[in-house]
Amino acid sequence: MIVTITMNPAVDISYPLTEFKVDTFNRCDIARKTAGGKGLNVSRVLHQLDDPLVAAGLVGGALGEFIKENLAAAGMRFAFSEISEATRNCVAILHDGKQTEILESGPTVSESELVTFYQALNDLFKEATVISISGSLPKGAPTDFYNQVLDLAKLKQIPVVLDTSGDSLLAAVQHDNKPFLNKPNAEEVAGLLGISEIKNVTELKTSLQSELLCDIPVIVVSLSSDGALVKAEEKIYKVDIPKIEVTNPVGSGDATVAGLVSGIYRGQPLTDYLKKAMVLGMLNAQEETTGHVNLAHYDDFYRQIRVYEV
Ligand code: ATP
Repeated sequence: MIVTITMNPAVDISYPLTEFKVDTFNRCDIARKTAGGKGLNVSRVLHQLDDPLVAAGLVGGALGEFIKENLAAAGMRFAFSEISEATRNCVAILHDGKQTEILESGPTVSESELVTFYQALNDLFKEATVISISGSLPKGAPTDFYNQVLDLAKLKQIPVVLDTSGDSLLAAVQHDNKPFLNKPNAEEVAGLLGISEIKNVTELKTSLQSELLCDIPVIVVSLSSDGALVKAEEKIYKVDIPKIEVTNPVGSGDATVAGLVSGIYRGQPLTDYLKKAMVLGMLNAQEETTGHVNLAHYDDFYRQIRVYEV
């Protein structure tokens, strides 16, 4: 089974508006509310693939209850730890083909809540074959909290797929126990290496060969409509994807992570799971709803993806 970890989930609210008026009221007929946060987006795509998973993380208050009800209604397994402060809302206002987001930073967690969660993970990991960690840490959690999860996974010999950013990503790549796979985008790689921008694939290739990243077995840098650049052991691969019509690319990185996790869970070879990951990212980009994919187009896209060494 796969264990996904979402430390700071959210109730994602989207308000589609024909026009967004500032400094006055906006009426909205349809408000979509779903269990969100990067790890829960990953979980939803894995569930659509019929891969067995348990969604773990921290929830609190009425919005925490909403998240559990939402996942239960979708038939998904979860094992959240309860915290005393309330889970957050994240609001996306969809207007004029644009998206304006208001992201609450969320609850502050206490040390004892983190200890309880860690103990729960220790039990969950007895059943786990792959662990997927996504998103930011809540306030109150130490920057190296994911390192502690990496240590637990190492003890139990379970591969970890990590998709986070900033200080917690830097802490994880510098840690002795590395994730098996990391999925940054180019901006996150630049942040890791302390450079302002990576301008092209050649610069990205050089960045992936830096000493800081050399001990992570697989790094998949997703490049939006340009596919991905991948470091696996000593080799670098480019993944080319076809041009597609896009509706809402938000969460495509999470769908991509779901494909990577699924492929590793199923013991697929690298090339196969890279293709799977790209297809799922593309399928997510074609949907209104984050974390939803229409698998009817899966085979068609899959056939058009090329993976080659550069
Ligand atoms: P997010 O944080 O919104 O989840 P990300 O930066 O982590 O995004 P992206 O690189 O934008 O991830 O997208 C992941 C994958 O999804 C891409 O590698 C690609 O396969 C697919 N994808 C995303 N945007 C597009 C697009 N505009 N056209 C085609 N495919 C896309």
